[in-house]
Amino acid sequence: MTTLLIKDNYVKELKNGYPLILKTALENEDAAIEEGTLVQLVDKQGQYIATGYYGVQNKGIGWVLTRKENEQIDMVFFVKKIREAVTQRENFFEADDTTAFRIFNGEGDGIGGLTIDFFNGFYMVSWYSEGIYKFREDVYAALAEVVNARGVYEKKRFNVNGQYVEQDDYVSGEKGEFPIIIQENGMNYAVDLNDGAMTGIFLDQRNVRKALRDSYCEGKTVLNTFSYTGAFSVAAALGGAMKTTSVDLAKRSLPKTIEQFSVNAIDYEAQDIKVMNVFDYFSYAARHQLTFDVVVLDPPSFARTKKMTFSTAKDYPKLLKDALAITAENGVIIASTNNASFNMKKFKTFIDKAFKDAKKRYKILEQHQLPEDFQVPHNYPEFNYLKVVFIQVL
Ligand code: SAH
Repeated sequence: MTTLLIKDNYVKELKNGYPLILKTALENEDAAIEEGTLVQLVDKQGQYIATGYYGVQNKGIGWVLTRKENEQIDMVFFVKKIREAVTQRENFFEADDTTAFRIFNGEGDGIGGLTIDFFNGFYMVSWYSEGIYKFREDVYAALAEVVNARGVYEKKRFNVNGQYVEQDDYVSGEKGEFPIIIQENGMNYAVDLNDGAMTGIFLDQRNVRKALRDSYCEGKTVLNTFSYTGAFSVAAALGGAMKTTSVDLAKRSLPKTIEQFSVNAIDYEAQDIKVMNVFDYFSYAARHQLTFDVVVLDPPSFARTKKMTFSTAKDYPKLLKDALAITAENGVIIASTNNASFNMKKFKTFIDKAFKDAKKRYKILEQHQLPEDFQVPHNYPEFNYLKVVFIQVL
């Protein structure tokens, strides 16, 4: 256990439950601490504040695990945390038309840097720092104590000396025959837990896909930009869209999108799937006077191509303006971002700017943030990174 002296102006927040240990909160900043070391946070008077672990992520240098001085960080601790999290999601386990959801959401469930997702009997554990990965054995023992997994897979989302240490994502139990099919509100999605960084579906958009399918697509043309495996396009097609167009520059998006349509018995040949840069597609569509009733915008926070870089924090108004140019009269734009560096209020200023610049009026129809299973820390909404706004063009 290493003691970390906390600056006065950070003590109150940490006592109030702020879970992140920021580098700037430390009085003795230069301490060289090993990843995975348990740290005791104390104020200048030597008074106990919290216990955490050291693990460097982009946001901070570690996470608070408990504010009880005598609580041991051991397998019993992890059992307690995972059990609490699983109990809170009982309604998800019981639902028969949804078989994929998050059972443990990092800091929202009391252990920053660790998430666990459920995929139709399989569990996928994501580790966000070398530090949290040091607790691997206890976490897996705890998981086995709480749930009955068919199989367990993991993703290491951190680098050791600039590289992933292990390639194999398989951990224990049955090996899945991927893709496995999961259900989400009655829709099918093909998922691969053993295929690089991503699984094929972003579970945090569940409610957005449902809203899109249920209320916006009947008889409409739908453009899905940054479409990845086409999850939104599937929802749109199942919602009665006349036609969907999916645009993503990754070559793999084509077979993956065909697969997602196929597992839902949708004729993919009746849909458009374009492997190209979204910004080139905007010019193409404008040149051909194509318009869409519904446009989904879900860019990555940052993207770099040979020709350009795109950052949601800087370029979202421009993206919206481009989208507006090819949105039909009275159409709907679904603007989404997972950039944690700005909040919903700020995101709405981007929307407002884009419409003002385009001299158009709009109405916000609905908005979404993280769904219930993506628990965030009470009092700290800044950890609720997802922001989705359904905008009606007037
Ligand atoms: N909307 C998707 C997830 C998007 S992930 C879903 O809900 O499943 C971001 C995607 O953007 C990646 O698939 C990446 O290949 C794609 N991408 C990044 N920059 C792009 C660009 N300039 N044009 C087209 N696609 C891009």
